[in-house]
Parts: sequence; structure tokens; C-alpha cells
Amino acid sequence: MSKKIAFIGLGAMGRPMAANVAKAGYDLNVFDLAPAAVAELAALGATAADSPAQAAAGSDIVLLSLPNAAIVAGVVTGENGVLAGSHSGQMIIDLSSVTPEHTRKMAALARDKGVGYLDAPVSGGVAGAAAGTLTIMVGGDPAAFAACETILQVIGKKIYHVGAVGAGDALKLINNLMLGINMAGVAEALTLGVKAGLDPKTMLDVIGVSSGRSYAFEAKVPNFILKGSFAPGFAIDLQYKDMEMATQTAKELGVPLLLTNVAQQMYETAKASGLGRQDISAVTTMLEKLAGVEVRESNPGVRGERRG
Ligand code: NAD
Repeated sequence: MSKKIAFIGLGAMGRPMAANVAKAGYDLNVFDLAPAAVAELAALGATAADSPAQAAAGSDIVLLSLPNAAIVAGVVTGENGVLAGSHSGQMIIDLSSVTPEHTRKMAALARDKGVGYLDAPVSGGVAGAAAGTLTIMVGGDPAAFAACETILQVIGKKIYHVGAVGAGDALKLINNLMLGINMAGVAEALTLGVKAGLDPKTMLDVIGVSSGRSYAFEAKVPNFILKGSFAPGFAIDLQYKDMEMATQTAKELGVPLLLTNVAQQMYETAKASGLGRQDISAVTTMLEKLAGVEVRESNPGVRGERRG
């Protein structure tokens, strides 16, 4: 018999992930604070719950996709939280990006109630969530992982069991530390390029086949920066939060993070300028203002010539 699933947190990522679970034919309960998001899933056949506890009640697996650790803690352990509605043998899978330390605490509380817990943060953005092609990095008991692999395959394509509970979070925070640094570098480089007279499209073409390229470059330059379209995507608030988790974890472990701290200030400045809900690529707009240029398709600069 197919498993009964609860999905809590129907945001930019959670909505398409939950939609894929519904479309795969699972019996699905959903909960979010935003009624519009819940209505979207109900239209696909999901049952709207009034609380995390109600969503969890009777479900075999509870999936969470929430903004941060404090919210996950409230949703899992709060008065009407998941654990208030859970039963022994149930599994909680947290797809959110949180710290390993937080996850180990949640897993211990769940274990006290006979509930299993996996951290399973994802990578691949909203497009990957919609296509069901996310990379998922899972920490936790190997038997629990094996029991949950089928549902994870509904939302992702590259699924890795990377260690004990919290290991998925550790991998995700170092991945996003690199994303944050790369994005800040792309913003600085392209702003300088336009100021130096280069055509944004030429930079895209040439760096796209050169050693400066990165995911931040390939995903964000054509789809966001050149179009001047900064709706998330991956919000600056979330990128800031992920770098905060990296610096927090690094402090606990005594590891210096020089570049991460500098790059994080770029996102701190963006948040202070009111850009927190915009895509991470919007950090470019701050540098554009300082330099008096714009990195846009419609701003050709000096057009390059392609040979060979
Ligand atoms: P989001 O802010 O778009 O969505 C969060 C959702 O959680 C919202 O619908 C909100 O209403 C809901 N929510 C907040 N508090 C709640 C509560 N107490 N109870 C129930 N629902 C509540 O965030 P997102 O972009 O979907 O990201 C979700 C998680 O995935 C974050 O941890 C983020 O870091 C991570 N992530 C995001 C991306 C991305 O590209 N957006 C990529 C990988 C990982």
C-alpha cells in the first residue's frame, strides 16, 4: 500500500515539491500559514490540515520545507506541532536548510516519541523542485533512509545518503557558502565588466566557456541579471541565513571563514536596503548603483565578435 504523506511548508520550494507528491498519486495532507498556497495543493487533491499536528496525524512520512531552524522547531515541537500528532514508527524528513546541531536536537526529541528523523536539504532551486530533479543530501539512520528513498525520488533525482543525522545539513551549508561567495563574485565582476565597456551578453558567452563560470553565473546571469528580473528564485534572506549557519557552525568548530564573512556582508547590506525578499542575484543592483551602470541585455556596451 502506498504511504500516506504530510507536507508542511508550501513556499517557493515546498509548493512544487508537494505538487509532485500529489501528482505521483500519494494520499497527501498539507499545512502552511498561507491559505493561497494550501488552496493550490488542495486543487491537486491534497487535504488541507488546520495545524502541523493534524497534518501529521495518520501520516507515515512528514515532509517539512520551512524557512529556518526556529520555525522548524516550532512546527515540530509546538503545542499543535508535528510531534503532538505523530505516532511511533512515523518518519519526519526535514528538507529545509538548517544547522546540523538543530537537526540533532529535533531528531533526539522525535526519537523519544519513537519517531524517526532524517535531514534532507535540497539543491537545485525552484526550477529543480518543479521538475523533480533536485539533489538531496540525506543524514540519518541508513535503514530509515532506505525506507524513505521512494518518496525522496518523487522530489529529487540525485539522492545521496551522506552520513549520520545532521550530515545532510553540514553538506548543504558548505554548498551554500560556496553559492553565496560565487554569487557575490559574479555581481562584482559583471558590474566591473560593464563599467570597463564590455557587453553583458558577450561576458555571458565568453565566461560561460571559461574558468570563471559557476552555477551562480550560469543560472543567474541569463535568467535574472540580464533580464533585470529579480523575483526569487532563492531569496537574499535565505542566502544570508545559510551563511549565518555556516559561520555559526565554523565558530563552534574553530574554523576561520574569511571569504564567507565578507560575502555575507554583501547580503547584509542588501537586506538593509530592503532587498531581502529578492533573488540573490539582486546584489548586483547595489553594485550597479555604486558604479553607475546596469548589467542588462538592453545595455550592449561594446559588442564582442565571435570567431571560429
Ligand atoms: P519560502 O519562504 O518561499 O517558503 C516557506 C514557507 O513556509 C512559506 O509558504 C511560509 O508560509 C511557510 N511557513 C512559515 N512559517 C510557517 C509555520 N510556522 N507553519 C507552516 N508554514 C510556515 O522559502 P523557500 O524558498 O520555499 O525555502 C524553504 C527552505 O528550503 C528554506 O530552508 C530554504 O533555505 C531552502 N531552500 C530554498 C531554495 C530556493 O531556491 N528557494 C533552494 C534550496 C533550499
